[in-house]
Amino acid sequence: MARIKDTPSSLVADWKTLHRVFIRPEDESSRETLVKYMEQILFGLHDFLNQHVGVTEEISLIKLAEEYTDTEINKDPQKKLADVIKDIIDEIAPRAVNVASPYFVGHMTSAIPFFMVHLKAITAALNQNVIKLETSKVLSVLEKQILAKMHRMIFDFNEPFYLEHVQNTETSLGVFTTGGTTANLTALWVARNKSFPPKGNFESLEKNGFFEAMTAHDLERTVVLVSKRGHYSLRKAGGILGFGNQNVIPIDVDDNRSIDLIKLESKIQELQATGRTKIIAIIGIAGATETGIIDPLPKLADICEARGIHFHVDAAWGGPVLLSEKYRHLLKGIERADSVTIDCHKQFYMPMTAGMVYFKDPKAMDHIVYHSSYVNRPGSVDLGIKTLEGSREANSLILDSALKIMGSKGYALMIDHGIETALHFSKMIRQRRLFQLITTPQLNILTYRVVPLDMQEKLKTTDQKERQRLDAILDDINIKIQRLQREAGKSFVSRTRLKYSPTDDHNIVVLRSVIMNPMTSVEILEDILDEQETIFHDLMTS
Ligand SMILES: *Cc1c(COP(=O)(O)O)cnc(C)c1O
Repeated sequence: MARIKDTPSSLVADWKTLHRVFIRPEDESSRETLVKYMEQILFGLHDFLNQHVGVTEEISLIKLAEEYTDTEINKDPQKKLADVIKDIIDEIAPRAVNVASPYFVGHMTSAIPFFMVHLKAITAALNQNVIKLETSKVLSVLEKQILAKMHRMIFDFNEPFYLEHVQNTETSLGVFTTGGTTANLTALWVARNKSFPPKGNFESLEKNGFFEAMTAHDLERTVVLVSKRGHYSLRKAGGILGFGNQNVIPIDVDDNRSIDLIKLESKIQELQATGRTKIIAIIGIAGATETGIIDPLPKLADICEARGIHFHVDAAWGGPVLLSEKYRHLLKGIERADSVTIDCHKQFYMPMTAGMVYFKDPKAMDHIVYHSSYVNRPGSVDLGIKTLEGSREANSLILDSALKIMGSKGYALMIDHGIETALHFSKMIRQRRLFQLITTPQLNILTYRVVPLDMQEKLKTTDQKERQRLDAILDDINIKIQRLQREAGKSFVSRTRLKYSPTDDHNIVVLRSVIMNPMTSVEILEDILDEQETIFHDLMTS
């Protein structure tokens, strides 16, 4: 399907048409234009979602890629907005992934409430840049308010504390980021700088750099400790922050599949023995990406407090569980963290991309202050003074509005549904003879695999070496099932690698499902398991 370039058309790029595409309040017809196209988008997508209940169209990636090889920019306009929108709805949408399908239970990206689309549109239309007051005004003030609300949800300080800090231009309770990755990076950036106080001629790591910091403090190594389930964004932070990703040290998990505290303690002792290694942070995970497991946060807080180590909690996934009265106890201990990451585009059900990081100490972010002479002048309200990102959209407006529309109770309905449906799902898996549950859900994520009956018996009695051989065969089967199910396009679960038992010496392939779509019902999950059984039997007979 070759695309024809330089198609002669009536469309031209000139000043007259250019003026038409900018929003001008004095022009009555621009009002109608706005409404017309919004209707086209919303109704078009709505109809699309009605027709395509599946996850994606059955077309191979190779075939798709062949249609996207033209690399020249067209000189003249090719299409009108209405046609572009139509093309997106007709050609792009069916070939994208319908993450809103209740059969799509494999990733942390899912359906979002429809009002998020409106809120995203209004944010784009206002186009405020919260990097500075001059381009955002009330949005900067609103951001500080919502940051304080979230801080209160996590740390629950008293009213006078929040009255003092909510609009305080000298302090920061947290910041919006592009996501969990940059939130974790920001937390470790602060923790790193905090770990190297001024000494002699050395002022700060941020200013003098790593070499001088290490020399001044007579250190030879800087590390971060996290369970082996730590998100890989932490390793990126190790690279970017210059202490090295091999120094993000993975600690084994125990029988509960959360960080092994005994191994953690002995690692800390080993590292501190020479007095020349700096532990800049210990990280607790509140909802591991692969298993949903929550680390023992109160115990980690004890360990960090006793040694004066920065305690970061990566609650990118699990943070919003704090809104559920029924399940917030699972995150107990998070209030003792020095910093906390929470994603907005996961369980706050916001469109991408939005994350947040919070600091217990309102002065902590002073470690990453940057000024410049045209924005972010010292003493100004500009939020961009203490952020990794430069220009930034007003995501706080979306979160604030969403909380107004839903209330914490509305969010809790979704959180509770996810946790309870996942628990139900795990029982269904246990009851089916072809399946083996690998991780029991603590939140709304679980893992399992397909194991044929004859192999289940063998697995029970064999030694590690023979198990490893059998597991390799099972890996192959599960990889195939996951791929065939995805390609069939009706439903989707993801896969990853974990140990069957934490004492094993090898990983196995597991199917992973994330239940966050409130429309995902027990019946749908039965269908998904049925489909996997059918795929398995077809595989065995072919
Ligand atoms: C998703 C996730 C991240 C990374 O967040 P992004 O928004 O994808 O950058 C970090 N930590 C955990 C535990 C996560 O689940």
